[in-house]
Amino acid sequence: MENEERPKSFIRTFIDEDLAAGQYTHVMTRFPPEPNGYLHIGHAKSICLNFGLARDYKGRCNMRFDDTNPVKEDVEYVDSILNDVRWLGFNWEDRLYYASDYFEKLYECAEKLIVSSDAYVCDLSPEEVKAYRGTLTEPGRPSPYRDRSVEENLDLFRRMRAGEFEEGQKLLRAKIDMNSPNLNMRDPALYRVKKVTHHRTGQKWVIYPMYDYAQCLSDGIEGVTHSICTLEFEDHRPLYDWVLEKLNWPSPRPRQIEFARLNLEYTMMSKRKLLQLVKENFVSGWDDPRLPTLAALRRRGLTPSSIRLFCERIGVAKKDSWIEIDWLEKAVRDDLNPKVKRILAVLDPIKVVIENFPQEVVEIVEAPYYPDEPQKFGFRDLKLTREIYIERSDFEINPPKGFFRLAPDREVRLRWSKYIHCHEVITDSTGQVTELRCTYSDEPRGLGQKSGKNGKKPAIIHWVSAAHNVRAKVRLYDRLFKTPRPTGDLQNELNEFSLIERQSAVLEESMAKIEAGQRFQFERLGYFIADRDYTDSERVFNRIVSLKDTWAKIRDKVSD
Ligand code: ATP
Ligand code: MG
Repeated sequence: MENEERPKSFIRTFIDEDLAAGQYTHVMTRFPPEPNGYLHIGHAKSICLNFGLARDYKGRCNMRFDDTNPVKEDVEYVDSILNDVRWLGFNWEDRLYYASDYFEKLYECAEKLIVSSDAYVCDLSPEEVKAYRGTLTEPGRPSPYRDRSVEENLDLFRRMRAGEFEEGQKLLRAKIDMNSPNLNMRDPALYRVKKVTHHRTGQKWVIYPMYDYAQCLSDGIEGVTHSICTLEFEDHRPLYDWVLEKLNWPSPRPRQIEFARLNLEYTMMSKRKLLQLVKENFVSGWDDPRLPTLAALRRRGLTPSSIRLFCERIGVAKKDSWIEIDWLEKAVRDDLNPKVKRILAVLDPIKVVIENFPQEVVEIVEAPYYPDEPQKFGFRDLKLTREIYIERSDFEINPPKGFFRLAPDREVRLRWSKYIHCHEVITDSTGQVTELRCTYSDEPRGLGQKSGKNGKKPAIIHWVSAAHNVRAKVRLYDRLFKTPRPTGDLQNELNEFSLIERQSAVLEESMAKIEAGQRFQFERLGYFIADRDYTDSERVFNRIVSLKDTWAKIRDKVSD
C-alpha cells in the first residue's frame, strides 16, 4: 500500500535535475529537530520526506539535533525524539549528530567572517537593533558599530566568548545590506551572549550561534546535498547561501529547498500550544491520545505504517494548506483493515431477554475473524444465550424516520445469528430503558415492522452474550478541537467530548486472553487497541479510529 502510484513531487524533480546536471553525485538529507518538545505528526511528514528521499535515491539521511538554543532544550526531548524516529521505522545508522558538536568549528568560521570584514560586533541594545532594522517599507539604518576594525572586532568577539559581556550587551552580526528588501539580510545576528548551561556542552560556551548561521554550516559540515525545510525559511535562503559563499565553502554546497508544513484540521502543531495543553492539564500528558504528538498517536494505537501512508498520500506542496483529518483517519483504517481480527463488543449495553430461548441452552456459532477471507485469521465460537447485550444506540423507543434498527415491534438480525423481534420495553423510574424482551426466529418474520434499508432485509446489529463475556473499560477519543482550524483559544475551541469513557463495555468471550498493544476491529464501532496499561484485571481499550467519519454520521444521523 505504501507504493501507491503518485505524481512526482517538486522536490524529486529538483533532485533529479541536480543529479542530471552533475551538481551532486549522490543524495544526502537530514532531519534536524530542535530538542525543545515532543515530535508531532508535522515532524513525521518531514521525517518521512527526508528519510524517504535518502531511501529512494540510495543516499543517506542524518539525524541531527539543532541544539543551539539551550534555554528551552532538554535531554528528555532528545530521548523521546530518537525513540519516535526509530518507531516510525527510520534508521540513521551511526549518523547521529548535534549542532553543538560543531560549536568550535562554527566559532572559527565566525572569526573568518570577521577577518574578511563580513561580520562585526555590535553594541546596540536588542531594542535598538530592532529600531535600526527598519520595516518592510522603510530601509534600515547602519549600526554605529558597523565599521569597527577587524582587530577590534576580533578582540571583542574573543572577549564575548570569554564571558566578559552580559546578555544583550554585544552581538556578532553579519555585515550584509541594511537596505535589502529582505529583512533577514539587514545585518542579521550570528552569535549572541547567553549565560546558560547547555544540556551537552555544559558551561563551556557563553555565546551561542543563531539558527540561520548554524543550520547552513551544520549542513555543509555533514555534506548534506539537499537541505529540506518548511516554507517560513524561504526568505532565509539568501542568508543560508551568503554564509557559505563568504566562507568560500567548497562545492558541492547544500541546496535549501522549502516545502509547505503540515497543518492538520481539528488539531494544533505549535510546540508552544502543545506545551500549554500539557502543562495546564487540558490533557493527561505528552502521550494523551488526543494530541498530535507521535507519542500520543502511538499510545492511541496508530501504526507507524499508517502514519507513513498518510504522509505519502498527502505529498509535499509548495503552498501552505490545511489537510482534512479524514485523510489521516482513512490512512489508519486502510492500514489496519487487513491486519486485524474483527470481534463483537458492546460499549454501552442494554440487556435483551430472548423469551423463547431456553435458559440452559448455549448455541454455538462459528464465526470467522475476517469475514472477507475467512481462512485468514480462522474462526472462533460465539455463544448465543437467552440473555444478551446489545448497543444502547441500536434501540430507539420512538424511532425517528430512517432509523432501521431495533424498536418496539420491530425486528433485527443478530450478527452471525438469529433474528430478534422486540415486543416489550422495560424502563426505570427515569424513563431509561433497562431491558428489552424479545423473541427469536431463524428466518425474518416480517411481523409488520418497517426495519431494513428500503424496507428490505432487517438491519444487522452486534451483540454479546450476557453469560459469556469479558468486561472492559473503553476510551472513545475524538477530535481535540471542535473548530477545524483552531487559533489556540483553549477556553472556547476545545471539544468537550474529545474523551468519552465507557466503564462497562462487554466483549465476546474470545477476548479473555489478549495482551497490551493488540489491535482489533470491534464490528460497527471502529478500531481499538488494548492500552499499554492493559491487564487481565483492568482491561482498558482505546479507540484508534471510528469506522467512518462519526461527525458525518451525526450530520446524517437518520440514515443508518
Ligand atoms: P515549532 O515551530 O512548533 O517549534 P519547529 O519547526 O521549530 O516547530 P523543529 O524541531 O525545528 O520544530 O522541526 C524539525 C523539522 O521538522 C524542521 O525541518 C521543520 O521544518 C520540520 N517541521 C516542523 N513542523 C512541521 C510541520 N508541521 N510540517 C512539516 N514539517 C515540519
Ligand atoms: Mg525550528
